[in-house]
Amino acid sequence: MQLGDLPRVNLAHLPTPLEFAPRLTEYLRGPKIWIKRDDLTGLAIGGNKARKLEFLLGQAQSQGCDVVITVGAVQSNHARMTAAAARKLGLEAIVVLNGDVPGERQGNLLLDHIFGAEVRVIQTDEEYVLMGVVEDMARQLRRDGRKPYVIPRGGSNAFGAAAYMEAALELLGQANALSLRIDAIVHTSTSGGTQSGLYAGTKLTQSGVQVVGISAGPPRETVVKRVVGIVTELVEMLRLEWRPHPDDVIVYDDYIGERYGIPTKECLDAIRVAARTEGILLDPVYTGKGMAGLMGLIAQERFRSDQNVVFWHTGGQPALFAHAAVLQEG
Ligand SMILES: *Cc1c(COP(=O)(O)O)cnc(C)c1O
Repeated sequence: MQLGDLPRVNLAHLPTPLEFAPRLTEYLRGPKIWIKRDDLTGLAIGGNKARKLEFLLGQAQSQGCDVVITVGAVQSNHARMTAAAARKLGLEAIVVLNGDVPGERQGNLLLDHIFGAEVRVIQTDEEYVLMGVVEDMARQLRRDGRKPYVIPRGGSNAFGAAAYMEAALELLGQANALSLRIDAIVHTSTSGGTQSGLYAGTKLTQSGVQVVGISAGPPRETVVKRVVGIVTELVEMLRLEWRPHPDDVIVYDDYIGERYGIPTKECLDAIRVAARTEGILLDPVYTGKGMAGLMGLIAQERFRSDQNVVFWHTGGQPALFAHAAVLQEG
């Protein structure tokens, strides 16, 4: 099995741009900063899930499914993009979201409704409670003669990771065309599918590029375990001999703050810095924390000034509007 043999649908505008960020580079006084614009994947305001959904919905379509079910937080970008992608393919979408029932439909939740997804909000922090609801719904749908396809949180499994393995190759091709040597990729990591694919892609090509994940919620060990698990699944699917090693998976959990979904002061500062130096919008749940991580690592002199670091922008901007209150000040 090769990447090109996997069933796939066309959802994302690829390749996404790789842009040099001169004013951000100057502001941070560290390595040269490049931004890989996966916020511009083009599907329903964009983001990293568009790439994953090409392979995930390729599976759904090849299995003849007619309804897609997925899970996420109330402001899940993955749920929003899954709803949009399902509609584009003529499928129904059900999104099971965990968190408090919000007073107002805003950001991604508003968009879920605009896409006509069936939205269920469950007040729980327990993944097994949420997955229990999903399994019950899938069973009921099958009894009704329907064919549900269940996508895991964040679209993070071997299929989602396959998309980011390909994305790593896309970036290496772009760097090659610019005669650019990339030293590291820094990105926000949570359910681990993005990091899994980037890690596998950079390792298998022996590119020497370090992939650095900044957690937006889970502790370091949880993300590392997820990545090793997903990469193992991916390389087994591709029948490769190479296996991942936990010591090679770089994750920082120093930029989470109180918890997932609560922006830190550093995150809000990073949003303003990116906006005011490059005219680029980050988001308060993922990429703001990711950029705060990059800024923190630069302050610790983790990178030399002659190095090239790619900040992989994974999207998420609809959540800006759901967090308008904390963004008012400053
Ligand atoms: C889902 C998401 C991430 C995290 O990607 P994972 O593959 O789940 O680790 C990062 N940024 C944004 C904006 C996301 O929506």
